[in-house]
Amino acid sequence: MDTFSSSAQLSTRNVTKVFYGKKDLFSRLSGKASNDFIAIEDISIDIEPNTFVSIIGPSGCGKSTLLNMIAGLSPTTSGEILLNGVPITGPGPDRGMVFQNYALMPWMTVEENIRFAVETVYPKLSPKQVQHTVKEHIQLVGLTGAETRHPHEISGGMRQRVGIARALAISPQILLMDEPFGALDALTRGFLQEEVERIWEQQRKTVIMITHSIEEALLLSDRIVMMTRGPAARIDEILEVPFPRPRNRETIEQHPEYHALKAEMESHLYRETRAVEAARIGR
Ligand code: ADP
Repeated sequence: MDTFSSSAQLSTRNVTKVFYGKKDLFSRLSGKASNDFIAIEDISIDIEPNTFVSIIGPSGCGKSTLLNMIAGLSPTTSGEILLNGVPITGPGPDRGMVFQNYALMPWMTVEENIRFAVETVYPKLSPKQVQHTVKEHIQLVGLTGAETRHPHEISGGMRQRVGIARALAISPQILLMDEPFGALDALTRGFLQEEVERIWEQQRKTVIMITHSIEEALLLSDRIVMMTRGPAARIDEILEVPFPRPRNRETIEQHPEYHALKAEMESHLYRETRAVEAARIGR
């Protein structure tokens, strides 16, 4: 993840995001907006193809803000985001998104949710090709047998499998995941993390994932982007994760660098979170 590497698939260049507040009387008269909020400032990252990148940082630092701009759901205030050298100006099928709350269509079955995405993105595919793609991705995420169930009839873990299958079924170049396991209980979460590692081994797609979990980031990532607290959050450090693949929890914990990396991440997160809390209570 060199700065401005020409081989990068995705680059953010000096990206800043300001949320503009309402102008009060004083700001109107003085011409200054008093409550504009700089969420993130001057973020530059280069992401090479086929890498799994996690973004970690204290709550509210701007991780989703950054991911939403990469997804094209929200514009940058300044700076630009390039996909294969071309500026991102909106959402596109080259980026698949997995949301924490699944964002499935509740009236559609598992199969219909995935099929709808494929048909929308590839309207020219024959029904047979669509069916093949849907079936392949249902198998990939281990949902065979649950095709005709509705989201309310399946567990949270299964719903997120649908979310992952739907995002991958449109063959995106990059998979964007915003705390994909955040709503799941610890056991389901651990199980699904290992599933994502298995799927990643098969597909080796570029992934950008937001997480709060140090263990999750260490299990899945090639690189971990650690952000400072906001406002005006920046990149503090980018860690390289050297564990060989395929990985599982037991093997990575035995790696000589595991505990040092974990300690470094813990100390970063505690330091940043402590500062956020201190600011909140006015110390
Ligand atoms: P994270 O994902 O790291 O928890 P977010 O990206 O959701 O953080 O938010 C970063 C900061 O930007 C927070 O202080 C949040 O309140 C603020 N923010 C996010 N979206 C908006 C918005 N639409 N308008 C104003 N402020 C926002």
